[in-house]
Amino acid sequence: MIELLKYYRKIGKIQKMRGDNLEKWHFNKMKTMVTYTYENVEYYHKLYEDAGFHPSVLKKPEDLEKIPVADKDDYRCVPLEKRVSSAKKARKIIRLSTSGSSGKPLTLLSDTAELAKQRVKWFYAMGKYGYSPFDLIVHIFRSGTSQSEPIWSKFGIFRREIISVLEPPQKIFKKVREFNPDILVANRSFFLMMIDEFLKQGVNIRPKFIINIGEVLYPKDYEKIVSYFGVPILNIYSSVECGNIAYTCPEGNRLHLHHESIFINYFRDTEKVIITNYENYVCPFVNYDLGDIAKISFGDCCCGLSSPYISKISGKDNDFIYLKDGTRIWYQFFNVVVKSFDEVNQFKIVQHRDGSIDVLVKLFECAKPSADREALANGIKQKLAINLKHEQVSVRFVDEIPLGPSGKLQSVESSFRPKRGDEIEA
Ligand SMILES: [Zn+2]
Repeated sequence: MIELLKYYRKIGKIQKMRGDNLEKWHFNKMKTMVTYTYENVEYYHKLYEDAGFHPSVLKKPEDLEKIPVADKDDYRCVPLEKRVSSAKKARKIIRLSTSGSSGKPLTLLSDTAELAKQRVKWFYAMGKYGYSPFDLIVHIFRSGTSQSEPIWSKFGIFRREIISVLEPPQKIFKKVREFNPDILVANRSFFLMMIDEFLKQGVNIRPKFIINIGEVLYPKDYEKIVSYFGVPILNIYSSVECGNIAYTCPEGNRLHLHHESIFINYFRDTEKVIITNYENYVCPFVNYDLGDIAKISFGDCCCGLSSPYISKISGKDNDFIYLKDGTRIWYQFFNVVVKSFDEVNQFKIVQHRDGSIDVLVKLFECAKPSADREALANGIKQKLAINLKHEQVSVRFVDEIPLGPSGKLQSVESSFRPKRGDEIEA
């Protein structure tokens, strides 16, 4: 507990760093991570050797540009044991899977110490928005997450309820109404869907603030969400590989980077998010191309911070899938279902004009020869049937996932709009 309080204070301290001090901080941390992975992780040792790179060339901040980039797709085809440190300590190891909006799942490991720090990062950002330990947090999240009640929740503190995205939308809305949370955590698509429904039903809920995570918040959506709830939005940019990467401040609504635990290599002339996680020594991510595009800017914020921040981040235009009765299913449901299959590299859900649905699946190169495609297709269809009982669903294996009409990667795309009066065939 004391360790975590110390970490909380450390976040505040590093957040205030600027200029040369911050550069020096990142340089020392990066040098430590690069040396550690060179010595203890087979994947990184080979990556550095193949590129003719040695950690000893790191002498000043600008040298961070020389560190080879870990390519996301190559990384995923490397067996887990080669990505895990041989020096890992005897802490409890935890297995995680990614839930990014690009539809590319990945299995990785972490430990209890890192995950505890990740929680502290949540509390730090929420503290800026007036979080109190007596608040009830309701999180619309993937299932399979530990839902065991911590002892202190019996005393009414640090209460958190998780509603699985795998439940039908109407059930989720009902639970949100019943919990009447102080803080509601979900992603943009969910909020938009819920607001339409609640406006229709005349339902009003008033949390203290809401948290958007997992999807980029566009200005028009921001306006809609703020005007419905009438409360501030804490926007969190995160990934499973690195936890929370950036959080907005309530004063300037600017996405401040979690400099204490991550580094986005802004010495490289690119807007690719090339990221290092300073806290995961079990399955490290060093100079890893996260597959996102973001612009790092420099300048003072009205909240008092002067460290580099994210001024622009490119998101994906995910659509909804429509059931014949008009119910919408948002992308997170598909993401959670399809990503639970390890062989899947990338996927896309396409709904045609007649309402039928194609699940396009691209397998990892390394998974292709051995994959039992029929079993995989049936497994995906079976899981999707939680919400798509009456829809015609086909799973197709493809070599490339086509981009959406806007030229962007889109995990969910629909050309179907149900007509009024359409009935579900029982
Ligand atoms: Zn700020």
